[in-house]
Amino acid sequence: MTSRRSFVATSLLGVAAAAQPFKSAGKEITLAPKKAVKHWVWTNPDEKDTEAELATRYKQYYEAGVRGMFFESDSEKHFRAAKAQKLEAHRWMWTMNRGEKSLLNAHPEWYAINRKGESCADKPPYVDYYRWLCPSKPEVLQYLKDQVNTILQKDYVDGIHLDYIRFCDVILPVNLWDKYKIEQTKELPEYDYCYCDVCRSKFKAWRGTDIKDIQFPEASLSWRLFRYNAINNVVNSLAVVAGSHKKAITAAVFPTPEVARRNVRQDWTNWNLTGICPMIYHGFYKEKLEWIGDAVTEGVHFLAGRFPLYAGLYLSDFANNQELHKGIELALQHGAAGVSLFGTPKQDVLDTLKAATTSSQKMM
Ligand SMILES: [Zn+2]
Repeated sequence: MTSRRSFVATSLLGVAAAAQPFKSAGKEITLAPKKAVKHWVWTNPDEKDTEAELATRYKQYYEAGVRGMFFESDSEKHFRAAKAQKLEAHRWMWTMNRGEKSLLNAHPEWYAINRKGESCADKPPYVDYYRWLCPSKPEVLQYLKDQVNTILQKDYVDGIHLDYIRFCDVILPVNLWDKYKIEQTKELPEYDYCYCDVCRSKFKAWRGTDIKDIQFPEASLSWRLFRYNAINNVVNSLAVVAGSHKKAITAAVFPTPEVARRNVRQDWTNWNLTGICPMIYHGFYKEKLEWIGDAVTEGVHFLAGRFPLYAGLYLSDFANNQELHKGIELALQHGAAGVSLFGTPKQDVLDTLKAATTSSQKMM
């Protein structure tokens, strides 16, 4: 780990050095243009917002360097207001975690089953809204493809943003262990999915073994890989749908490739996306600010330039704007193409975003 990190740090310094202007015969020549920085905001559109309020708000966002919005629900008014201020407007969609009553009633058999044989349809883990679909069922994939297709047919939608695109947390972030009174130092069967008949038979067809015959399924590397691939298949199928509309597809994911695989079976560096927003919420993991830089470094390293990484920052995790400034700088200086803010950014936050972007670019 240490050697890889230092290797990455060295590589980044190399890139940064190459981007510095140098003087030749008194004339400044820039070897490479400064990387364009693009920031995002996650938001739930409020129908009470007026057109005038939205025009003012999105203009302020643009001036601070925000270039795209992820809207948690469909609101044509908000999408068009954002686009009028030169922001991209993307639809943020809960993907595998689907608690809508209509679906629960119509297709309880689509829901994931844990290692104890319990279904998310009637026995959700941790919280009532945790209703995870099984990614191996063809009907589930078709349902999701149809939904993405319907969303992207709308002319005011610039892209799809996948959230909850993973399995249920087999391990929760450590700051939640107290809250739920669970010590998850190992994978517990009630949080380990999916052991439905379709997953079992597909695994058996692939590796010739019934997962129920494996003494420690939580230690089976093939079983892990099978589940990474199940979600990868969903994402990459949805990416084909987005591609057919020539629209963007991005996702909100766990903070680093390693944490994502370990805690939620999410193998996001193998997805065919146009961008990714790891939720680098340092407070959730009881980490210090500096860890934002570590997480970005790891993600950028394993993405190997396939698509840009935007560091998801949780505004409530920052004690003040000075900390936020540092967090944004850490993300940009370690290779993020921008940040995505969770929380409602007021003018002071927007000012901080703009200042931290400028100071980072001066250092790069
Ligand atoms: Zn299943």
